[in-house]
Amino acid sequence: MTPAERRRRLLAAGFALPLLAWRTGAAQGLRPTPACGADGTAPSATPPQTAGPYYMPNSPQRGVLVEAGDSAPRLLLVGRVLTTACRPVAGALLDVWHCDAEGHYDNAGFRHRGHLFADASGAYRLETIVPGLYPGRTRHIHIRVQAPNGRPLTTQLYFPEEPDNAGDGLWQRRLEITFAPRAGAPAQAGRFDFVLDG
Ligand code: FE
Repeated sequence: MTPAERRRRLLAAGFALPLLAWRTGAAQGLRPTPACGADGTAPSATPPQTAGPYYMPNSPQRGVLVEAGDSAPRLLLVGRVLTTACRPVAGALLDVWHCDAEGHYDNAGFRHRGHLFADASGAYRLETIVPGLYPGRTRHIHIRVQAPNGRPLTTQLYFPEEPDNAGDGLWQRRLEITFAPRAGAPAQAGRFDFVLDG
């Protein structure tokens, strides 16, 4: 692969701008520029999606949804919560729920359910497992994101190159997690930035 091809691929994957920002920022001792509006325009708001039947309020506050005995591949999901003006949403609430590796939701307790808060720069970090599959749906994670005193955005995140994506009427490429190769555990490290209206 030529350097130009490699750059194009990185750009396509959305990694070039953050990487460039990180490198220049590191050189000057500055904080990295947020990956927002990568093409120079303001980002559009993250599309809402149905919560489905399995949302439960009052999930525990935790950023790790790996349960005892989980042998499924781990998923590290990081990103930021931003406004359409690229401002970080400090302290945003992220309420997450997904099925287990066998495709079952815990509707009696809080396995694979939890909420966490973005930090002052809008950054969040979630450690969990790659959810399994259940009939009628492709692989997905449910999430509700809310600015302090803001309206909640309920949506779902998807995994690239899943065989069932095209057959799932809810799937949107715009809601796919971006994955980059990463050495060591967890097995999969992905990124998704949420963009909230206003
Ligand atoms: Fe679901």
